[in-house]
Amino acid sequence: MDSKKINIGVIGSGHLGQYHVKHYKNMNNINFLGLHDSNPERGSEIAKKYETKYFKNVSDLMDACEGVSIVTPTESHYDVAKIALKKYGCNVFIEKPITETILQADDLINHAQRKNLIIQVGHIERLNPALKALEKFDINPKFIDIQRLAPYTVRGTDVPVVLDLMIHDIDILLSLVKSKVKSIHASGVSILTNSVDIAHARIRFENGTVSSITSSRVSKDKVRKIKIFQDNFYSTIDLLLERTEVYNVTKDSNLIKNALQAEIFSAGNEKKYIVYEKPKIKNYDSLRAELDNFVNSILEIEKPIVNGIEARNALEVVIKINKMILEDLK
Ligand code: NAD
Repeated sequence: MDSKKINIGVIGSGHLGQYHVKHYKNMNNINFLGLHDSNPERGSEIAKKYETKYFKNVSDLMDACEGVSIVTPTESHYDVAKIALKKYGCNVFIEKPITETILQADDLINHAQRKNLIIQVGHIERLNPALKALEKFDINPKFIDIQRLAPYTVRGTDVPVVLDLMIHDIDILLSLVKSKVKSIHASGVSILTNSVDIAHARIRFENGTVSSITSSRVSKDKVRKIKIFQDNFYSTIDLLLERTEVYNVTKDSNLIKNALQAEIFSAGNEKKYIVYEKPKIKNYDSLRAELDNFVNSILEIEKPIVNGIEARNALEVVIKINKMILEDLK
C-alpha cells in the first residue's frame, strides 16, 4: 500500500454502488480499500467480483478512509454520511438526492464545514459531455425547456418522479440560471404507482428566466432533452444521445467560416447570419469523471462539481414542487 495515496471505500454495493467499486478499482492514484453493504451476501458478491475486500463493519471502513462513496438508498444517506463526517472525519460522495429533508442536508453541510470536509453529490448529469460542451458559450437563458421521459421500471418508484428524475433537471437548471427562484407552479398525476409518475413544473426566476420541466416514468421511449433560448442563441442538448446543437445569430460574416451551416436573413437593413454549430463532444464516462473529481477535491486539486450546498438547493426546489403537486391533487 502506498502511504501517499488516499484511502477510499464504498458503502452500498447495489445497482449503482457496484460501478463506484469498479471505477475506484481502476484508479491508480488512490488505495481502494473495499466496500461495506448491510447485506453481507451482496457485499461479498461484489467484493469477490471486483477482487476487493468486504468490510462487515462500516466503522472499520470509515475509520481507515479519507473518503467514502455513499450509495445506499436515499433514506439512509443522512445517517451514514453523518457518522462518516462527524465520527470519522471522512470526506463523502453521496449519491443523489443528498438526503430526504432540508434539515438533514443542512446538518450534514454544517458538520462538513466545521471539519473542513468535502460533501460531493452524485448529480451525474452535470458532467454529461453534451452539457459540458456548452461551457464555451455565454449562457444567459430567457427560456429553458427540459424533458426527461423514461419507460416504467420498478427501480426508483418508491419515491415520486420529482425526487427520482426531475431532481437531475432542477440541478441542471439551477446551475444554468444564475438567479434565485421567484415562483413555482407545478402539477402532476399518478398513472401506474401510488405516487406521482408524471410531473410538470414552471419555474420563474428573479432575473426573468422562465423554465418548463416535464418528467415522466410512463413513457414508451427514453427522452432527455434540454432546449435553451436566449438573445440571438438557441441550443438543444440531448443528454441521452450526448449531442449538442447551437444556433447563433451574428452580424459578423467572419464567424460563419467554420460553421456547419449559415443562413442570411435581413432584419431591417442589417444582414444577419444564423450560424449552426455542433460543438465537439468529449468521449468519457460521467461516473468515472465524477469520482475522479471527488478524489481530486480531497487532494485539493479541484473543487467538487456539485457540492453539498448546490445539492441541498436542488432538493429544496424539488420538495416545494412535490408539495405543490400533492396539494393540487387533493
Ligand atoms: P440499490 O437498492 O440497488 O442498492 C442499495 C444497496 O445499499 C443495497 O445493496 C443495500 O443492501 C445497501 N444498503 C442499504 N442500506 C444500507 C446501509 N445503511 N448501509 C450499507 N448498505 C446499505 O439502490 P441503487 O439503485 O444502487 O441506488 C442507491 C442510491 O443511488 C440511491 O440514493 C439512488 O437515488 C441513487 N441513484 C442515483 C442515480 C444517478 O443517476 N445519480 C441513479 C440510480 C440511483
